[in-house]
Amino acid sequence: MTAAVQKKVYISCNGCNRRLLDAQRLKNYLLANGYEITGFPGDADYLVFFASALNKVRIDESFDIIRKLGRYKGEIIVLGCLMETAPTEFNAFWKGKALPVKDMDDIDLFFPDIKVPYKEIPPDNFPLSPGNIYKDISPGVFIKQRLNLMLSPLKIADKLYGYLHHNKKEDYNTTFIWVSKGCPNLCSFCAERRVVGPCISRPAGEIVNEYSKLLEAGKRNFEFIGDDVGSYGLDLGITLPHLIQQLNKADKDYQVNWVIKHLHPKFIIRYKNEFIEMASSGKIRELICCFQSGSNRVLKLMRRQHTIEEVIDTLKEFRKVLPEIRLATNIIVGFPTETGEDFMKTLHVYDKVYFDRVHIIKYYDAEGSDSYAITPKVTDHEIARRIKLAKRFFKKRGIYFQTRD
Ligand code: SF4
Repeated sequence: MTAAVQKKVYISCNGCNRRLLDAQRLKNYLLANGYEITGFPGDADYLVFFASALNKVRIDESFDIIRKLGRYKGEIIVLGCLMETAPTEFNAFWKGKALPVKDMDDIDLFFPDIKVPYKEIPPDNFPLSPGNIYKDISPGVFIKQRLNLMLSPLKIADKLYGYLHHNKKEDYNTTFIWVSKGCPNLCSFCAERRVVGPCISRPAGEIVNEYSKLLEAGKRNFEFIGDDVGSYGLDLGITLPHLIQQLNKADKDYQVNWVIKHLHPKFIIRYKNEFIEMASSGKIRELICCFQSGSNRVLKLMRRQHTIEEVIDTLKEFRKVLPEIRLATNIIVGFPTETGEDFMKTLHVYDKVYFDRVHIIKYYDAEGSDSYAITPKVTDHEIARRIKLAKRFFKKRGIYFQTRD
């Protein structure tokens, strides 16, 4: 009797940490079911790709990667966010197998002879190493990308500035713990909420057990992760502060660091006292509060459910109690109808609260978002001008920035 030939799978992802964690869980699932993971697309029977749809650049890249994967003999399976963020383009382009994030449990249907279903594989604490997909599938594109970076004086200037302020960069030495999947909020610029589905929280006891085991294994730096961590527990009739209390009991004999991000600002406002208490214990060194716009008119159109004054007052309190806390944020530049005056209001928030780090996000008009229907749009040229202005503004104040333009 001859042994069954092990099927090989090539897994790639151009998405964020949440999708890289999903990719690692998928890898564990395939290994548990007797599949082999290969780093060579040409050897693979299946080519699994987690396709990011973060912005226009990423969407174009995702389509390009799928096209290039099509040169190999293996069957392509597209996962991730692309199918709900750019549905018309995706449906016209792709007739093969695909699943959005919220339907990952159905992955069992794509692989024959599965013995351990996907839902029985626990979430992983470490993301799949991202690598550069183009290195594997198109070295020419990989070299071109590197050259473009080296030959652009503006990009070099930004890189140099980033290098000089690298102490304010995000710390990636982290053990991740999933607290919930999905998001119940309705931000109008976000297509991701349709991809991830409604919020489903893990029971607090399960999270605390996982945390205790990781503490015993010597881990000390944690990021609690979810599509909106602030919504944790609302589907179970509990709240994030309830979970935090339980975690505090588990780690009372240890010196630990926590990062809590992917948290809608309305929850930072709502749970302000609990967060300040936690940060005072030294556990939270950094708070990420993505206020997106300094204009209440724009915030209303974004359906963010808070005013900019509430954000400013809350963060000022953090700064007063904990002058050393690192504050980080995201801003969206060029949301539909944003005027020059609205944009200046966003920059003026930095005159009221000091942020150490900011992510400047060029507004992307995703078909799957509600803001797709809001007009008038801001022209690309005007968005580029505002981003340039923002960079100059942040450089003057020594604020570390990253861009997704
Ligand atoms: S909280 Fe985040 S994931 Fe949820 S709708 Fe808003 S932007 Fe999207």
